[in-house]
Amino acid sequence: MDVTDQMAPLMTPMMAQYQKLKAAHQGVLLFYRMGDFYELFFDDAVQASATLGIALTKRGKYLGEDIPMCGVPVHAVDHYLHKLIRHGHRVAICEQLENPAEAKKRGAKSVVKRDVVRLVTPGTLTEDTLLDVSASNYLACLTWLRGSDEMALAFADISTGEFGVGSTSLSRLAADVARLAPSEILLADNLLDNQAMRLAVGISGAALSPLPQGRFDSQTAEHRLKSHFNVATMSGFAEFSRAEIAALGALLDYITLTQVEAVPHLRIPQREANEQGLQIDAATRANLELSRSLQGEKSGSLLDAMDRCVTAAGSRRLASLLARPQAQAQAINQRLDGLSYFHEDATRIDELRKCLKSMPDLERALARVTARRGSPRDLASLAQAISLAHEILRQFAPPKPPPVIQSACEKLSLAPRSLAEEFRKALSENLPLLARDGGFVAKGYVAELDQMRSLRDETRSVIAALQAHYANHTGLKNLKIKHNNVLGYFIEVPQAQAEGLLNPMAEGLLNPTAEIKFFHRQTMAGAMRFSTDELAKLEHKIATAAGRALALELEVFETLVLAALQARAAISDCASALADLDCLSALALLAVERKHVRPHVDDSTSFVIRDGRHPVVEAALAKQGASRFMANDCDLGSTEPALWLLTGPNMAGKSTFLRQNALIVVMAQMGAFVPASAAHIGCVDRLFSRVGAADDLARGRSTFMVEMVETAAILNQATPRSLVILDEIGRGTATFDGLSIAWASLEYLHGVNRCRALFATHYHELTSLAESLDRLVCMTMAIKEWQGEIIFLHQVQQGSANRSYGIEAARLAGLPASVVARAQQVLQKLESQRDGTSPATLLTDLPLFRNTA
Ligand code: ATP
Repeated sequence: MDVTDQMAPLMTPMMAQYQKLKAAHQGVLLFYRMGDFYELFFDDAVQASATLGIALTKRGKYLGEDIPMCGVPVHAVDHYLHKLIRHGHRVAICEQLENPAEAKKRGAKSVVKRDVVRLVTPGTLTEDTLLDVSASNYLACLTWLRGSDEMALAFADISTGEFGVGSTSLSRLAADVARLAPSEILLADNLLDNQAMRLAVGISGAALSPLPQGRFDSQTAEHRLKSHFNVATMSGFAEFSRAEIAALGALLDYITLTQVEAVPHLRIPQREANEQGLQIDAATRANLELSRSLQGEKSGSLLDAMDRCVTAAGSRRLASLLARPQAQAQAINQRLDGLSYFHEDATRIDELRKCLKSMPDLERALARVTARRGSPRDLASLAQAISLAHEILRQFAPPKPPPVIQSACEKLSLAPRSLAEEFRKALSENLPLLARDGGFVAKGYVAELDQMRSLRDETRSVIAALQAHYANHTGLKNLKIKHNNVLGYFIEVPQAQAEGLLNPMAEGLLNPTAEIKFFHRQTMAGAMRFSTDELAKLEHKIATAAGRALALELEVFETLVLAALQARAAISDCASALADLDCLSALALLAVERKHVRPHVDDSTSFVIRDGRHPVVEAALAKQGASRFMANDCDLGSTEPALWLLTGPNMAGKSTFLRQNALIVVMAQMGAFVPASAAHIGCVDRLFSRVGAADDLARGRSTFMVEMVETAAILNQATPRSLVILDEIGRGTATFDGLSIAWASLEYLHGVNRCRALFATHYHELTSLAESLDRLVCMTMAIKEWQGEIIFLHQVQQGSANRSYGIEAARLAGLPASVVARAQQVLQKLESQRDGTSPATLLTDLPLFRNTA
């Protein structure tokens, strides 16, 4: 006997039911359906009311205490779910599985059957209202096989059916998690004992869902996967490692558990060879503001500047390409071929975009339909998208398009057109939000439904027709069919003529062949009331017509959903092809608009950019109508890659130049054209960027420590195929310590890593290294001095700066004039005594500062 059974006598039957469900769903808020509301009780109510800012009330007593309660209306549940999930809660949705009338049949005191139909967690959302339409929503699962270093990270986006896995390692984990940016990560609870692991998964800000170790068993996982995909072996899909199988299986298990009612469509799992892509660690990804700005916004990111997609699915595909640039020249060139195909012919872009404008979000509509959460509108979306897909297909007539586009076209051609036609026939024009509202099946699709509807909707005219029929047959012009709540429908005739109806044959009122028999029901003063079998049946039909009509509609809905389920693989492929085409044509449009060129990508170690520009800064300057962005070359050579040491004043554009070259690599390797007049890029295997200073106090690391951790990662990992961007290292400590660290790092990059690198610094002393390091090239930002002020030309040229003009920048920033003047005095003194003047000498030479402002 469990605790709730022991307590049962103390509770109402409904509370006992609630407690039983709650006991099975600890740690989540239980939304308990009661009519038009989801109610929460006890501690759940206290927590939810505080988070949602709704009233906390009470209902009944338990152990002598009031039971706290709060509730949210069913029709507005999405809004509340969104808020709770954002605040880190998880929610179990408990529905009524029968109506109160059905429950009553089992006894007057029976409680309506209820059960949890779904667990809502950050990684398992499918509703458009709860999701960012243009971003994927990944649920990730991490496994680390005991006693080995085999580690894997699986991911699924159940709102689109994407499902995949890749191997990882403790050193790469943070980068892989950052690339995926999941909203929830599943992992064995004991893994969180490992601090490095905690840091790596914690960096993403995803919700962590620790589960018992037993849920990550690879054998159970394999069984589960094989039975889900109905295959005898998983190796038909790819060669997965044991850790990868365990991660995929545990993920599938969690999805099954949370989506109690129906597992959404998951595509065949893809194995991502992460090691073959361009590796970008978490710090570099954040520093370069690829998909989010440093403030965490999409606006200001490279993704935002590049996104010209017409559909949400296209934007999601773009985000995914940007998150995973490739490192194999052949694969990159194939995508670039696809983009060139559109770029060469602007009308192709136009035509495609015109069609895509009315394209619904097929991926997400399909995911909702397969998760049995779909609506009639989702079915209409499938039909509309499939028809549009075939229309789009006609745009790709010969000459033969390149392979990426051909493969997309093949997928479009397999989209089930007959299904779309059937849906179109079945669905009416104006569709309700929910199937249970009815009214979505088209007229003429099901004969019985039409009858039921006309009975329901046209009761008056049906009754009027019957009245006319009876009046004709009896010849009684005053015969009326009326309705009241006591008798329901009845026939009423004036007393004087009623006698005839009591015995119509005798009176000769009726044609003897007419089979109408009138039953007397009531005699009134001056009138008599009758009924007929036909009227009674009609009355019954009218009463049940509405219910029957809805039941028939729901049957049609179920049939259509099943048809969609059968065709889900083809529909899902079609959705993926449409996203690809949108993304390619949008990148081509961007290239036309912003004058980007196709990069020459190969397996060399070249890095030659002509007239490179920063895609985000350039767009921002154009928007502000400010000065034009100055394009700059970056030539690190082709055989023995050079290392550029960039000096120049503050605000001269060093960081912008460094970042733009890193961004050009990302763009080229994701298969996009680049902001330059020409570019030759030998595929980069790893991209590192150490830019600016950031405290990571939450993780107990100071600015300088963060800087050193990032620098260490670069020096330990950069290969001759890597590109390294180092902006001001060694700035967070004492001048000489910093200079020494920068000096040694530069030598190491040059002699040991031997990678392509751009190194910006204010330590002008470093330029003397050019005498001993043969591949080190000194470059500087050109400026002009005019009437005591400096003008930034934003031009990168050979040479080196001997000053930083930091005080000039401080003046521009608005430091008080007296502070600026005093700083200039101190600087002059320091510069005139570079032989190691002690602060004490400075104090005597420069009398105490007096504020004269
Ligand atoms: P600091 O040494 O102070 O960090 P910096 O040399 O790194 O400065 P940036 O931050 O790159 O300078 O650039 C300063 C500003 O100059 C940018 O915000 C941008 O508006 C402008 N800028 C940079 N490069 C260019 C360019 N090539 N053309 C036009 N404007 C530019």
